[in-house]
Amino acid sequence: MRGASRESAGSLAVDRRQFLGAALGACAISPSLGFLSIQLAASMSGSLTKEQRDSMTPSQVIDELKKGNERFRAGKMAPRDYLAEKRSSAAGQYPAAVILGCVDSRVPAEIIFDCGIGDLFSGRVAGNVVNDDMLGSMEFACAVSGAKLVLVLGHTACGAIKGAIDDVELGNLTGLLARIKPAIPKTEFEGEKSSKNPAYVDAVARTNVKLAIENTRRRSPVLEDLEKKGSIQITGAMYNLANGVVDFVS
Ligand SMILES: [Zn+2]
Repeated sequence: MRGASRESAGSLAVDRRQFLGAALGACAISPSLGFLSIQLAASMSGSLTKEQRDSMTPSQVIDELKKGNERFRAGKMAPRDYLAEKRSSAAGQYPAAVILGCVDSRVPAEIIFDCGIGDLFSGRVAGNVVNDDMLGSMEFACAVSGAKLVLVLGHTACGAIKGAIDDVELGNLTGLLARIKPAIPKTEFEGEKSSKNPAYVDAVARTNVKLAIENTRRRSPVLEDLEKKGSIQITGAMYNLANGVVDFVS
């Protein structure tokens, strides 16, 4: 075991030196890719280490996600070696955040935040609603594994939100949409309240994110306590399918 970990540490050191060279090269052509971008494993050296993750505050994790989203929108994603990330994370993972997102194929958290293997826990369910299993997953992510941030990630033009507005009934989907429906009467909106109105659909989606945050705090004393202690932050955001912007609620 010791031999293996020494070998692993050695190859990491080599990878890190390679990264420094790559980063310096990248700086020459892209000043935005500085050394700070190493934080959320935006590097060639592998996944987040425990030391890197534990040294970050919840608000720093939010800042790193915002920077990653800016890189994604600019098409200037950090140079990344998935195989190095796979190797460095195989023996242990230290993700900085857990994302509760929608199954929508256009909202892959790792890509829109320009993160890599081992950086994020990703829980996905249509309409990014909270249920017992998702709460258990988020509790594992934060209380057991040490993630610093719970992020509920809604998005524009969400089909699940439209389905809830339209009272769609279909197999098990009916029960899932019922978890979204409380957001409908709680959405204040002037104008046509129908699934045909994109502004209304997005307003309900924003309310749905807020309710998911409230439900998380109310239904998970574990997470609520961690947040009160300042160990984690529970927050939300909306992803705009059209322009790629992630708009954080805080
Ligand atoms: Zn959706």
